[in-house]
Amino acid sequence: MRDPPDTFKVSPSQLEAWLTCPRLHFGKWTLKLPTIDRGYGHFGTVLHAVAERWLDGDDRGRRPDGLPVDLYPEGWEWACNRFTGRREHRLQPLERDHVRRVFEDAVESGRLKRWQGRQIEVLMTRKVGKRAQANAYIDVLLPRGVLDHKSLGNPRYRKSERQLREDVQMNFYAGEVLERNPRLKEVHLAHLYYSKNPADRQNLTKLVQTSVTADHVAAWWQIFEDVVDRMAALREQKNRPWFEVQGPTDYAKACNQYGGCDFRSVCTRKESLVRYTRRVQTITQKGTKT
Ligand code: SF4
Repeated sequence: MRDPPDTFKVSPSQLEAWLTCPRLHFGKWTLKLPTIDRGYGHFGTVLHAVAERWLDGDDRGRRPDGLPVDLYPEGWEWACNRFTGRREHRLQPLERDHVRRVFEDAVESGRLKRWQGRQIEVLMTRKVGKRAQANAYIDVLLPRGVLDHKSLGNPRYRKSERQLREDVQMNFYAGEVLERNPRLKEVHLAHLYYSKNPADRQNLTKLVQTSVTADHVAAWWQIFEDVVDRMAALREQKNRPWFEVQGPTDYAKACNQYGGCDFRSVCTRKESLVRYTRRVQTITQKGTKT
């Protein structure tokens, strides 16, 4: 069934972007400005697919059809688009070796387990506020919690337990756990970190885990619903001038987060929106041809 015309899809990335800077969200999701794919996610996509195949097996490593789980089937080294299945990037041999090493460390250390009652790659479809529909895949949904795979090149981006409790994505997913089991008083949250750095041999994987109360999750969902209402209003103002859209509360932090916002050149008036769009489209087209 199709969504009503005034309903839109919302993901944790969108909510996180809005809470970082509403103008960033406006550029990416309302104006749909192009951004440069820096290829940071390919290693993680391949590694997560290996972990998913492993989690799909039973305790003896067999699939539902009785055959042994094949962790590295033909073409496993390709990063594929999650929605279309299209092959997008092939890992180099050294990167493939590293995927195997990191995955083995996760299993041998017991950080990655075949948890009881696990569900893999669960699509969240619940409503968020009156106008939006959740659009998110949960890596591992457990009866009392969620686990998210995270591949990082730099360990300084790992979250602490405190940061995990205030993480937008994890509180979003926790809402799904409570929806399925409303009697729970607490939800368990976990990030399983995989190092993309082959030199990081002592810390190939790390598990950060904590719990939040049902009230804590409900408070976050109230924020999500408020944000969705504000997003809905801005979606109807596509012609709003760039600088009239609200910026972040902390410019230094928001504009430099995760290697820097894509739209810095526009916000610092180095280029117009039109020039920015042309430049990024040219870079993207060149990248596709190579
Ligand atoms: S550069 Fe800064 S102000 Fe501009 S959209 Fe990005 S985060 Fe917002």
